[in-house]
Amino acid sequence: MKAIIVHGGAGAWPLSEHRAALDGVAKAARAAYQILEQDGTALDACQAAVMALEDNPLFNAGAGSVLTLDGACEMDAAIMRGSTFGAGAVAALRGVKNPIAVARKVMEETDHVLLAGEGAERFARTMGFPDHDPVTPERRRQWEHLRAEIASGKPRRSGLNERMLTSQPKAPPGTVGCVALDPSGEIVAGTSTGGVFMKLPGRVGDTPLLGAGTYASPDAGASATGLGEGVMKTLLAFRTVEAVGAGVSPQEAAQRAIDLLTRTLGTEAGIIVLAKDGRWGIAKNASTMPVAVMTEGIEPQVTI
Ligand code: ASP
Repeated sequence: MKAIIVHGGAGAWPLSEHRAALDGVAKAARAAYQILEQDGTALDACQAAVMALEDNPLFNAGAGSVLTLDGACEMDAAIMRGSTFGAGAVAALRGVKNPIAVARKVMEETDHVLLAGEGAERFARTMGFPDHDPVTPERRRQWEHLRAEIASGKPRRSGLNERMLTSQPKAPPGTVGCVALDPSGEIVAGTSTGGVFMKLPGRVGDTPLLGAGTYASPDAGASATGLGEGVMKTLLAFRTVEAVGAGVSPQEAAQRAIDLLTRTLGTEAGIIVLAKDGRWGIAKNASTMPVAVMTEGIEPQVTI
């Protein structure tokens, strides 16, 4: 069985960007599916989908990542194989084009799971990833606007505490994620993000934390998005994957996880999950989350 599910981040996508966001996730799903059709692995397919979205400046990952309070780009990413529980992740990583590719190197070339900050960047250089500035002119403009608002005394999203984060106007959504299933039965989940706008330098979200933003088991894989502080406290990805392993349908498992988050913390999130039999689930409590799905014999299905 071959299947791909891709998301482009939960949040309030402006209506004017819906078409481009759906095209972006569909294109990423197609690129990943093509790899499966050429007998590629779920690992390669998942990485390809996430990289396609990291390279698309519309999304908040790789190029297009949002900025920290001090105007830098610190990115988080993780990739996990369900068959072996092999995993690699990077957090608060600066100066690379494709954090998901560095995360994969952490999995394949080290005995560790998660590298952060300067150490992650040094590792990336050792692995041959060139210095790259992912800040787009659009993000710089948005950052300058937010800085001006802070300077004028208007309270803004700063990452200082959750109440502040959730009460502030919405930053652009656009974290990206993919779960891929290949004919060998391997499931791979990957997620990549710039995090939340105006976060404190050093803030790490749910994306690179296994079980929070990204998780895969032999039964299923999941990628989450939304306010990371809420997703990590509820272990959204692990919760969803475990429920599928216990026999709950993927759609029901995703919905239950989101309902729990809504009931308890009330923060915004979305999740995609793919099971080993090719069934999938999509749930969110945010207004929008672009998603594309491809499985055998169907054209990409997209929803936002
Ligand atoms: N989950 C990401 C984070 O908190 C952000 C997002 O998905 O929009 O870092």
